[in-house]
Parts: sequence; structure tokens; C-alpha cells
Amino acid sequence: MKLESAGILIDLRPIGERDAVARVFTRDFGVMCGVMRAAQIAKKNIPLVGQVGIATWNARLDTQLGTFHWEAEKNLAAVLMIDGKKLAQMNSAFALISALLPEREGYSSLYDETLEFLHELSVPSGAGDAYLRWEINFLRELGYALDLSRCASCGESENLNYLSPRTGRAVCDNCAAPYLDKVYKLPLNPDITMRFISHVCESQGVDVPIARRILIK
Ligand SMILES: [Zn+2]
Repeated sequence: MKLESAGILIDLRPIGERDAVARVFTRDFGVMCGVMRAAQIAKKNIPLVGQVGIATWNARLDTQLGTFHWEAEKNLAAVLMIDGKKLAQMNSAFALISALLPEREGYSSLYDETLEFLHELSVPSGAGDAYLRWEINFLRELGYALDLSRCASCGESENLNYLSPRTGRAVCDNCAAPYLDKVYKLPLNPDITMRFISHVCESQGVDVPIARRILIK
């Protein structure tokens, strides 16, 4: 069996002295796992986390780990290596994808958004709230769509300064007034989205990845 797709190399772990187990977020097949032969001893075309390229996955049986042939086209992470905060954001996004997306289920819009996010990060001038936007998209893909367009309680579309932790929907000032100790104050920030990330992790029975926990606001 052979599968080929554009992808982002999101994780690489050495096994033995030569090889590595890689995780590639592919456009067509979602997260795929496989062995990259000689990844540790490669003299050229060295596989690196953050590269974007073409992954060809081969296995005799569909259920096997399989092996990757990896053709890197560009390394979007290269410029991030000198910026600790952006690097931490990239690592957090990759760790969340690795931990929470099921393998071999297509997430093509999230793939495109992740590529867009990496491009935004790699612009030297700073990425603004690119990470936050990525994480909101990620939560939406996992069924936790945050809706900031109208008040969850009265439908009002103005004075939306709070968020319901229960529904992930905005709440207007009037409706929030009796519950100020229970609702989150907008605007969204990574501390608020972290609560939803924690919910997802809990429901899937996994720990919040360290790369996400240490993320600086
Ligand atoms: Zn309201």
C-alpha cells in the first residue's frame, strides 16, 4: 500500500542509531506515522520538524507502521529557530495535532490553516495573534467551536464581553452580569482557549502536551 500527499513534518523521534519515527500532518490523509530510514545519519536532505514537503508512505499491510519517503520543499521553521516565542507556538501547535487528532483522518481545512499559520509565523515582523487564531480553528475541528458573533442567551450582537465556559459562546454584558464569577472575560487569549484545550484532552484521556502548557502568553 502506498499513499502520497503534501504534508508538514510535525514530530521526529530517534529509534536505534539511524532511523526515526516521524509524524507527518498530511493534507489528504491527516496525521500519518511511519519510520524515516537513516534520518539520524543523513548528510543531505536531513528531515527536520517544521519542514513542508511531499510524504510518500509505504507499507505491506495497511495496519503496519510503514516507512516514509520524505521530500522536503521548504523549512518554514528555519526562521523561527531564532525566535523563542514563535518556536514555542509552532511546537505547541504540532504537539496538539500529534496528541489529539486521530491518525489517518483527513483534516484538510485545518491542514491549510496550519500551513497559513506557519507562513504567518515565518514573517519576521511578528505573527500577532496567529497562534490564537490557529488554536480557535483547531478547537472548531475537534467540535469545540467558539462562537463570538451573538449572545448565547439573548441573541444580542453588541456588548459581547464575556464567554460562557460551558457552551463556548459569547455572552453580552447584561446577561453576564449575574454570573461574572463564572464567565470568561473577552477578548480571547491563550489562557481562555487553554481551558477548552484541557476539556478536549480530558475527554480523550490524554495529558495537555507540555509544549502547550509552557506556552507564554
Ligand atoms: Zn445577552
